[in-house]
Amino acid sequence: MQLRTALFLLSFGTIGIVTAIPQTQETPSDRVSVPILIYHSIRPYRTTDLGGVRKYITTPEALDQEFAYLKAGGYESIGFEDLENRLKSGKALPRKPVIICFDDGPETQYVYALPLLKKYSFIATFFLFTNAVGRKNYLSWDQVLQLSADGMQIGCHSMFHPYLTQIGNEKDLWREIAGSKERLEAHLGKPVTAFAYPFGQYNNHIVELVEKAGYGCARGTYPGIVHSEEDLFTLTGLIRTATLKSLIASLQDSEDKANENTTTDRS
Ligand SMILES: [Zn+2]
Repeated sequence: MQLRTALFLLSFGTIGIVTAIPQTQETPSDRVSVPILIYHSIRPYRTTDLGGVRKYITTPEALDQEFAYLKAGGYESIGFEDLENRLKSGKALPRKPVIICFDDGPETQYVYALPLLKKYSFIATFFLFTNAVGRKNYLSWDQVLQLSADGMQIGCHSMFHPYLTQIGNEKDLWREIAGSKERLEAHLGKPVTAFAYPFGQYNNHIVELVEKAGYGCARGTYPGIVHSEEDLFTLTGLIRTATLKSLIASLQDSEDKANENTTTDRS
């Protein structure tokens, strides 16, 4: 097994970071390793930001560093539909795929993250809760449309960002899951197929409703990088709150798992 892994690493090592090396198509693995990075506000720290707030802020310099690291490492950004197609029908992904998410729709994502996404030619999925769009300090509908026009993907993050597991009324729950999707689609003029659970909270009933509402996948915030078709509505991610060092450690882990998967495919 180790020799096999070594041979695999050697064979790809000589190719270097050539883009879009297809994965083995004859024997598609039912599990795939794709880091899903979750960012929140992107802006410089303010002196008034306390520790709890800073946990959800990535400075533009730190994001620039992380994107530079991803680019140099040969990572290619993909969308949730790409992951879905891979898991459902074995459609090839780039050799080192990454999904980049920006949650909650603060305006800082448009101001600081979008230019960096363009600088590194990455795409990202912006998970918006519809009640916030157009409010002070949040993205405007014009900015959302601009993100979409720039090739970014828009995902749904409910209407009011509640703890879905604490909503007892079915009508309210459906509005949060399906009503928000309709509103986004009406503004964008295109389907919205990815959902992110507010606060990463869900239960079996909520998962069923998300599927029934017509989404193709949904993401929580439990940590993890390996995904399977069974997990399409409970996808895991990596909340980016810390240092580049922690990103490097997570990605190394993901590469190790990817190599294990590939070795398993071939054996
Ligand atoms: Zn959120």
